[in-house]
Amino acid sequence: MNDKLEYSLTKNKILGEVLFSESEIKKRTIELGSEITKDYTGKDLLVISVLRGGVIFLVDLIKNIDIPLSVDFISIATYGIGGTSTGVVRITKDLEEAIENKDVLIVEDIIDTGLTISYLLRNLESRFPKSIGICTLLDRDIRRIADIKIKYIGFKIGEKYIVGYGMDYKQKFRNLKSIYALKTDTVEKDIESIKHTASL
Ligand code: 5GP
Repeated sequence: MNDKLEYSLTKNKILGEVLFSESEIKKRTIELGSEITKDYTGKDLLVISVLRGGVIFLVDLIKNIDIPLSVDFISIATYGIGGTSTGVVRITKDLEEAIENKDVLIVEDIIDTGLTISYLLRNLESRFPKSIGICTLLDRDIRRIADIKIKYIGFKIGEKYIVGYGMDYKQKFRNLKSIYALKTDTVEKDIESIKHTASL
């Protein structure tokens, strides 16, 4: 079997319906970019991307922000028990730059329980930024545990596990242009075990 055929068969087995198409994501990203442009004009904006899932959204988002800005990256790993996020988080790659007095915008792929972002918020707040806002492409607020304020939300989503556009299934499928739900019948048993156990 050639590689292309094998890839397409794997995709058919794993991927369910398209939840947000490439064009829907593009349209929403343009809208968010112009809101951010309006809100941060005249400020010293630093956009922070949380690796690895958030990076594709970040790249498209900043192209639609029409003011000077800087970008930095942070990578965190989180651990869970039986699929439940515990909020036990560790920084595996820290920011390159100081954030003191900057207007920081954290860009995330998806916020679920909110425990990861609330750890990150506490950590960044201790470095004296001027302000910190959160922008997430997807917001699964039905599972929220931490009380957090999200300034910009792309789309609200339900329970379904998401893949594509930066988000992985066993570290694959981040390169898909649209956002898919996983086919729950074939992969349900894996989903809980992969949540919150690996590098994001
Ligand atoms: P939280 O701490 O908010 O529960 O977890 C957020 C992180 O969990 C996200 O940044 C993402 O890495 C991962 N995550 C949560 N839900 C999903 C999902 O449906 N699909 C994927 N691929 N990752 C998810």
